[in-house]
Amino acid sequence: MSFFEAIDPVFSTFVLGNAPIKEIASGFDWVEGPVWFGDLDCLLFSDIPNNRILRWIPGAGTSTFRAPSNFSNGHTRDRQGRLVSCEHGTRRVTRTEQDGSITVIADSFGGKALNSPNDVIVASDGAIWFTDPHYGIMSDYEGKRSAQELNCNVYRVDPSGTMEAVLTDFNCPNGLAFSPDEKRLYVADTGRMFSSDPQHIRVFDVGPDWHLSGGEVFHTIEPGCADGIRVDEHGNLWSSASDGVHCIAPDGHLMGKIFVPQTVSNICFGGRHKHQLFITATTSIYSISLAIRGA
Ligand code: MG
Repeated sequence: MSFFEAIDPVFSTFVLGNAPIKEIASGFDWVEGPVWFGDLDCLLFSDIPNNRILRWIPGAGTSTFRAPSNFSNGHTRDRQGRLVSCEHGTRRVTRTEQDGSITVIADSFGGKALNSPNDVIVASDGAIWFTDPHYGIMSDYEGKRSAQELNCNVYRVDPSGTMEAVLTDFNCPNGLAFSPDEKRLYVADTGRMFSSDPQHIRVFDVGPDWHLSGGEVFHTIEPGCADGIRVDEHGNLWSSASDGVHCIAPDGHLMGKIFVPQTVSNICFGGRHKHQLFITATTSIYSISLAIRGA
């Protein structure tokens, strides 16, 4: 069987026939949150149950970047290149400054503790957007079992530090991504992980002052969950699924799949030209070079 399936013929032009999908690191329990540092030529990712952030360097392998990591999950970089992290254990979002010190971006809303921030992105104005489902406080596996104080919302923290709950009608908001022009925001709802609740990606129109409207179902992932999502240079949305990585066109139709041997949690584009897709999948990290680039 081929390592990919083109449902839309165009998808065949996104993959390279001679670029294999490779397992580049393994031996973890449940990995998520990949983020590429091109200036340092390395990938960071979370091994959540083992309370650590790891660093993979091409040709050199994997080492510990930070342990304990406060059970960190999703990561991204801000406009200054600083690491922004979601932490289950401390129920907060942090920024790692250039000198290594930690700044807390958000740990509560309206006087109540956040649940367990899951995934995070930074917009062109520097605002930090993150999802706050309760996965990290449901058990002691990916953090610490704790009481839930807030609904599972999506938040925006603007550059002045003002925090707003921008989406409040989700079951379990998870991965999120802007379209390349930031006129759309995609947010995954992975409620079905534990019930018959929704498993889909919704799309919002981003208006003036970052006001969101719309919110219809954009695409439903089958099989599995849209835990992590990323956008490529053409505006296609790439999503985790339990059989691999799915590529969805801007009109919502499934273009193709890359099959991965383990259940995929998150993805990110990286490498020299953002042409490599890095995939966190259960106990391993996979990578594949593509004929397209990340946004
Ligand atoms: Mg996630």
